[in-house]
Amino acid sequence: MRLLRSTDLALRVLMRLAVAGDTPEATPTTRDVAAAMEVPYTHAAKVVAELQHMGLLEARRGRGGGLALTAGGRTASVGTVVRAFEGDGDVVDCEGATPCPLRSACRLRGALRRAREAFFASLDPITVTDIVAEPTGPLLLGIARAG
Ligand code: SF4
Repeated sequence: MRLLRSTDLALRVLMRLAVAGDTPEATPTTRDVAAAMEVPYTHAAKVVAELQHMGLLEARRGRGGGLALTAGGRTASVGTVVRAFEGDGDVVDCEGATPCPLRSACRLRGALRRAREAFFASLDPITVTDIVAEPTGPLLLGIARAG
């Protein structure tokens, strides 16, 4: 299953903020994040707004202000984040411009839905903190400092 770009970006933003700690890079701005991840500012801003809405990060104002993870952001389930960004859509577009004639009684459709849910469920026990454990976290921090 291929994730949406916004889902991947959301996870990368969370990972980047999870390794920041008390370093000088602790509170990058949305513009910093967009530049570091080479995505349009508007795309990054939309993802950051959604993560903020979910209570996973906060935007600190003033001198030295920027984005920081909340306590909930550190312990957030990767599965929850992926579900939120992927939405409820089917893996296959059965209802597209030319709806599939099998769609009212298709066993494959049900099987794909279950497979999708199993994919999400496998990510449920994994937290944001888990995915920045060594060796990922130190490498990510090194890249952020070099950027
Ligand atoms: S065969 Fe089934 S899963 Fe595939 S498009 Fe048709 S209804 Fe959807």
